[in-house]
Amino acid sequence: LPGHINLAHKLEQSLPPARRALLQIIKQAAEDHHLPIYIVGGYVRDLLLDRSGIDFDIVVEGDAIRLANFLSQEYGGRVVTHSRFGTAKWQIKEIAETLSKQLAESSILNTAEFPDALDFISARTEFYEYPTALPTVERSSIKLDLHRRDFTINTMALRLNGRHHGELYDFWGGLADLRQKRIRVLHSLSFVDDPTRMLRAARFEQRFHFRIESRTLELIKQASDLLRQVSGDRIRHEFNLIFQEDDPPAVFRRLEELNLLESIFPGLHWGKDQTKDWDNLINHLKLTHRKEKTIPAEFCWLVLFHSFNSSQMASICQRLKLPSSFCRILESSANVQSRLPELESLSIVEIVNYLDNQPETALVAGAAFNPDNPGGEIIMKYLTTWRHIHPTINGRNLEKLGIPRGPYYRTILDTLRAAWLNGEIKNKVEENMLLSTLIQRYE
Ligand code: ATP
Repeated sequence: LPGHINLAHKLEQSLPPARRALLQIIKQAAEDHHLPIYIVGGYVRDLLLDRSGIDFDIVVEGDAIRLANFLSQEYGGRVVTHSRFGTAKWQIKEIAETLSKQLAESSILNTAEFPDALDFISARTEFYEYPTALPTVERSSIKLDLHRRDFTINTMALRLNGRHHGELYDFWGGLADLRQKRIRVLHSLSFVDDPTRMLRAARFEQRFHFRIESRTLELIKQASDLLRQVSGDRIRHEFNLIFQEDDPPAVFRRLEELNLLESIFPGLHWGKDQTKDWDNLINHLKLTHRKEKTIPAEFCWLVLFHSFNSSQMASICQRLKLPSSFCRILESSANVQSRLPELESLSIVEIVNYLDNQPETALVAGAAFNPDNPGGEIIMKYLTTWRHIHPTINGRNLEKLGIPRGPYYRTILDTLRAAWLNGEIKNKVEENMLLSTLIQRYE
């Protein structure tokens, strides 16, 4: 409860100078308007776990829109509001320079440390008229605002102003659960109100190496079927958050264990095949020196859909409302995968002609998922060597040689490329000789 723990010092230390200065003016503005303000949720949880980030939202016990408007009148920047929820976004990207000069006491602040925008949220409570409905919203105290959140560890608030500055508000047992490493919902209808919380539970559990507490686990078992009714957009959003975790396979293994993947889409699973694909993919990306911090989402989807045939691919695309451009990539990838055994019996030119028409992602996946398979090695050879082999001559050169434009331009260039690929020509002199023969043939 308020007063027990003061995190003011920890907060100061965790923020870069520009954000500290920003917080200072927000506190001042809130005090001028007699509005209690708090940082809540993930930021406070992470501060207590010593893994703090720098992005926080401000919850206002009162009118958040009024506070944001005041700040923008005083310091500039635009405010975008969402009146149904009582939220306001104060956009400060364009005023970072002037803000930095206004806020700096001694030296100029580093503008790069400012966020592009800050969210101000009026403390609110939400009612769900029926399961999975959008909630009805009402203004409330900070205590009730915290009660609408997903898990106890996300319900702690840090008071920012007045004589309570720095105090931790822990109404719902968040600190005890954090210490006991437990993921616990606040009430027994939590997953009925919002089934995506089941996915979030597995994600937080694996991220922090916590355990979903036994009653919460029981509630997941009872509510798992509700995931069928959740919109594709919301499921997709949660999956994208899982993809950004340090260890997505751990989360998917847990979702499999909890039978939640099958509830989202029949036939969706995470098993040995997926783990193997994942490991191969990581090796491949390392080998090819790709620098992404996390695996790009398109590959994550490909791993998840490892064993799907094309009709399953089409229905999951619909279920999760994946963009149609990406669905075409999925289809090509399934096609490349199914033609893998055939590649060995094709000539280099036939292989190149086929692979030239496949999207990059399907090719990288084909090579990455099958490192020990001759078909996979062939794709790798294509990616690293064959696709870069082209004649030194192009259409403009043919034009300069006085050859009238026509469909045989393509034939000549294709024949030259095939000769390079097959090793029949190895240098420019040999290429010119072959070109003369071809020109004579088509004259
Ligand atoms: P992360 O560290 O992954 O950013 P976070 O805890 O900051 O996690 P957000 O997804 O940014 O989480 O959400 C902000 C806060 O809103 C959370 O702390 C959580 O309390 C609350 N929240 C988010 N999604 C839900 C949900 N589906 N149901 C209830 N509360 C939610």
